[in-house]
Amino acid sequence: MRASRFFISTLKEAPSDAEIVSHKLMMRAGMIKRLGSGIYTYMPMGLRVIRKVENIIREEMNRAGAIELLMPVVQPAELWQETNRWDKMGPELMRVKDRHGRDYAIQPTSEEVITDVVRSDIKSYRQLPINFYHIQTKFRDERRPRFGLMRGREFTMKDAYSFDRDVEGMQKSYKIMYDAYVAIFNRFGLQFRAVAADNGAIGGSGSHEFHVIADTGEDALVYSPESDYAANMEAAEAVALGNRGPAAEPLTKTPTPGKAKCEHVAELLNLPLERTIKSIVLAVDKEGAETEIWLLMLRGDHSLNEVKAAKIPGLGAFRFASEAEIVDAFGTKPGYLGPVGTKKPVKVVADRTVANMADFVCGANEEDFHYTGVNWGRDLPEPLVVDLRNVVSGDPSPDGRGTLAIQRGIEVGHVFQLGTRYSEDMKATYLDENGKPQLMQMGCYGIGVTRILGAAIEQNFDDKGIIWPAAIAPFEVVLCPMGYDRNETVKAETDKLYGDLQAAGVDVILDDRGERPGVMFADWELIGVPHRVVIGDRGLKEGKLEYQGRRDAAATAVNVGEMPAFLK
Ligand code: ATP
Ligand code: MG
Ligand code: MG
Ligand code: MG
Repeated sequence: MRASRFFISTLKEAPSDAEIVSHKLMMRAGMIKRLGSGIYTYMPMGLRVIRKVENIIREEMNRAGAIELLMPVVQPAELWQETNRWDKMGPELMRVKDRHGRDYAIQPTSEEVITDVVRSDIKSYRQLPINFYHIQTKFRDERRPRFGLMRGREFTMKDAYSFDRDVEGMQKSYKIMYDAYVAIFNRFGLQFRAVAADNGAIGGSGSHEFHVIADTGEDALVYSPESDYAANMEAAEAVALGNRGPAAEPLTKTPTPGKAKCEHVAELLNLPLERTIKSIVLAVDKEGAETEIWLLMLRGDHSLNEVKAAKIPGLGAFRFASEAEIVDAFGTKPGYLGPVGTKKPVKVVADRTVANMADFVCGANEEDFHYTGVNWGRDLPEPLVVDLRNVVSGDPSPDGRGTLAIQRGIEVGHVFQLGTRYSEDMKATYLDENGKPQLMQMGCYGIGVTRILGAAIEQNFDDKGIIWPAAIAPFEVVLCPMGYDRNETVKAETDKLYGDLQAAGVDVILDDRGERPGVMFADWELIGVPHRVVIGDRGLKEGKLEYQGRRDAAATAVNVGEMPAFLK
């Protein structure tokens, strides 16, 4: 590629809405252009990186036996209604109507469509297992689109879907995809970590996230340097909470027939009955750096937000800055941490203070019974969802083989064992050897293609700009001739090297724009091309070219004829 025939558009200053380094640098390097909130045009320089990312993913998916297809971006609402996700997804799901008033979803992911394909086209056990993938535009109406491509609304994702006869098969397919992901992220040249993720309702260890390690990452990762234990904070906390608490105390189920829930809870909490309550929720609210603990007493089925906004009359909402204050106010430690009247534990955004509360006697609820001695987080009917800081570095690793450390990461991939979550709702069955219909066992596997760009930069930059790993750089090598348009020797040597490198399959760009050296160097350092060769009259007189790697402090002289081999 000749720079004069390509589109290069660099900026000295990043726009003011760019908050993090990758967003700033991508804007300055002319890789993306903002069209609207979370919506970007991929400019030629950025698109080259995207294509390289896609190609690596495609090669490894194909190698792993996945088959590429391409599903529509606009999908009929009926399919989404079959799985209930039309309602469940809420405002993140972008919806449109056609001229006939029919509803459509703009895909945030494609489980429904692929399950529809498979239920109609796969009939027999002989056709399984099978794994389909596509690399396609996604749309999620994110609450807070930000950080450029990192959390866009329109973005590109590779999503793959496996279908198997049984759980064992699904686990095999999952392992194949997991290994393919390791190969992909290794090829990107990025430092990454695969961590166990909480699988929510599906349970088991059936989900892993792949994170690019970066201090600016939104997620906290917990790992043990001495063993291979690694989990995201959510999953690690669930384990930690499950391991704490009054495990030694037996779970006791107290019959409370006819007794009002509020009465029993009041008893547990040692509260006067005139403060009767229908349910109690203990939650921690994190606003910025501030952490507050709320002990909420609800008289009806009100949401936490309603309560916090204090719009519900006749309820007691108490705000506590610390655990000690709760003890102070009630003369007892809070004994109840699950919402009464439902079987669901409250979603708690926890802090270390709350982890300590797992050491208290807790209750969980069932019609006409109360349990005490429940180990909070372990024995509740669904895993408690928690976030951050119940695990701190130095804690023992759950596998007993070391201690825990914490680092930050950016979620770039996610693999899931889905089981029959979709095949059940959509009746995706195959006929087994006995001609009996069986539900297919599914897995799904996503990679955030465009997010990879942001993540790669967050991990690899300096004060001059981006430092792309060679495998995904927009160009691998840039040739910077000193006086290409005025010095014949320089031009001839540059053209020769350019031809030789192209012939050798090197992705090279020749900067023939006639810019001053300072401008040229600054542009390519900002854009982040990993290898630079300077062709100048002075060096050529000694038969030398100047090579400088993007991370090198100084240039190295290389013999003219040896440069192609040197760069390989
Ligand atoms: P997050 O936790 O960041 O919101 P997610 O868990 O909702 O991501 P998944 O549903 O697991 O995302 O989708 C698979 C992958 O798609 C993610 O691992 C991520 O790399 C990418 N992705 C998700 N949302 C976005 C987004 N808004 N912009 C860019 N990439 C995204
Ligand atoms: Mg999300
Ligand atoms: Mg996530
Ligand atoms: Mg995810």
